[in-house]
Amino acid sequence: MSIGPRARGFFEVVQGYIERAAELTRLPSHIKDILAQPKNELIVNFPVRMDDGSLRVFKGYRIQHNNIMGPYKGGVRYHHQVSLDELKGLATQMTWKCALLGIPFGGAKGGIKFNPREHSVDELRRITRRFTHALGNNIGPAHDIPAPDVGTNAQTMVWMMDTYINTGSTYEKNDQRAVVTGKTINAGGSEGREQATGQGVVYCIKEWAREARLDLEGSTAIVQGFGNVGSNTALLLAKLGVSTIATGDHTGYLRNEEGFNAHKLQEYVRTHGSIEGYPRGEQITREEFFETKADLFIPAALENQVGASEAIKLDVRLIAEGANGPINPEGEAVLADRGIPVIPDILANSGGVTVSYYEWVQNRNSEHWDAEEVQRKLLHMMRRAYQRTMFYAAEKKVNPRVAAYALALESLATSYDERGIFP
Ligand code: GLU
Repeated sequence: MSIGPRARGFFEVVQGYIERAAELTRLPSHIKDILAQPKNELIVNFPVRMDDGSLRVFKGYRIQHNNIMGPYKGGVRYHHQVSLDELKGLATQMTWKCALLGIPFGGAKGGIKFNPREHSVDELRRITRRFTHALGNNIGPAHDIPAPDVGTNAQTMVWMMDTYINTGSTYEKNDQRAVVTGKTINAGGSEGREQATGQGVVYCIKEWAREARLDLEGSTAIVQGFGNVGSNTALLLAKLGVSTIATGDHTGYLRNEEGFNAHKLQEYVRTHGSIEGYPRGEQITREEFFETKADLFIPAALENQVGASEAIKLDVRLIAEGANGPINPEGEAVLADRGIPVIPDILANSGGVTVSYYEWVQNRNSEHWDAEEVQRKLLHMMRRAYQRTMFYAAEKKVNPRVAAYALALESLATSYDERGIFP
């Protein structure tokens, strides 16, 4: 998925949001300067043996943006377009996401630049283990805690955990399970983590619909991306009576006026790796996808998908950002002119890292919470963040993205203020 040449890098885009938020909060400039750059940028090159016996060298990254609120936290992305600029932007966003939600974590992001679809399960396991080994003590349960992101899943996290435990010290092995989150339940994962990001998106949509007096029962959605976030959002929306009438991924776009069976489509994507060839839908172009009239649009693929030309076509009442950074600033300006509200990524998709935090707490206390407890806690935290953001936006007359960035920045600034700068 790409929309042609990018006007500016993603890191610069995120820095632009921080600038806007800083103007609003009137921060001392040294705090903005500290937060403008990641603390650590790690790049590792490592060889892995392929199934045919050949060796291939991979480039892996871990960007640790900030840890004033707690250990670095954020996903690991496997994608052929992974770059330092992208990961710096995504790591910065994690600092803001955690601060907005009040989660005691900082921000990080990592990844490997390759296409995981071109590799066997055995190769993926060796790549993941070798990457984890190369990261060494740069990750750890009280230092930096990776999680799934684009191109990785619970299995990837279990391999990372197992490698970390087996290459580290010989005692307290069980405590080390908290080195990653998003694991399978068997390996110490949390109930509800798999659906958590979609769950959070849907909580936000419900809050908005209540205020906008939109009856979700019988309404429609278009969903870009049908991986973990897109498919779980569609599934949970279906339970509220919302039909997903168009979707798409890197292989193309499909429309079904009667609404897709989100469960069947999710199963199909799990077995086939994409929506390509799914029989119950008519093929449409990317343009037609963006023109499809619906109540809700959930971008849940990659960043920079909605520029000015997509924003002008959209015929929806609300956009909830399941992906990180799906709308670029030019697209956002068009949406603002057209009066289409956007629930911003650091709020809308924060359910994932929130349940990651619950997983980490459970691991550290040797507890296992049931699904109801996880859901109740998640709902409480998301609702609070949503209401604080919307209240701030209304009070300061700014859009919810700027409000979310400003609120998070206020709490980061308070921490710096209290601690001072060493020495
Ligand atoms: N990759 C997810 C995100 O972008 C989850 C991060 C986490 O759970 O640490 O928020």
